[in-house]
Amino acid sequence: MTSRDGGSHIFDSGSFALELFLTGGPPPWDRYEILHEPADLAAWLPESHLALELPLGVDDFRITARDFAKFKEFRQALWRIVPGLTGSPKQLPGVDPATAADLQIVNDAVGPMPRPQVSSNGEKRWETPVTGAQVLSIAAREMVDLIGTDKAKRVRMCEGGNCYLMFYDTSRPGNRRWCSMQRCGNRHKVGNYRSRHYE
Ligand SMILES: [Zn+2]
Repeated sequence: MTSRDGGSHIFDSGSFALELFLTGGPPPWDRYEILHEPADLAAWLPESHLALELPLGVDDFRITARDFAKFKEFRQALWRIVPGLTGSPKQLPGVDPATAADLQIVNDAVGPMPRPQVSSNGEKRWETPVTGAQVLSIAAREMVDLIGTDKAKRVRMCEGGNCYLMFYDTSRPGNRRWCSMQRCGNRHKVGNYRSRHYE
């Protein structure tokens, strides 16, 4: 991803659902909005974490206007739910605390899943088109686990001072602290060096 100062770094959200934060959100996060219409969502999916599970192309998805609206509503709910899961003391500007209605949005999004099939030459393939509701169902099932199981302990916000990037820690020891070493991790190291030597 590219930051506003023009530098680029690698950020892995560790989860398809949490990757949705990179597609935009409520103000002031709306300046990062990339999902303006259903076709934008179909174009983003093959580039997202979803592709690890569903290696499909843009034309394999069918996103209706209704699916798209549900996706945006789900993303709004995540903006309210996930910061609380991270345990971070940082307050996200423009974001309200989660309510029971937000959890209901997640629960309601759990629905039919994409259908794996065996092709005539014996290979696994996915029945297409995959609908927006099926894609949302994948994200919602992930969120049920991230909220309601031990996985919640690994939902984090980057410890960088002004960084609000949230991720699921997939590292084996479970000690990931930064959005990326290249960005906030390095700043931290540089900061430590300075404080040891110049203060
Ligand atoms: Zn960061």
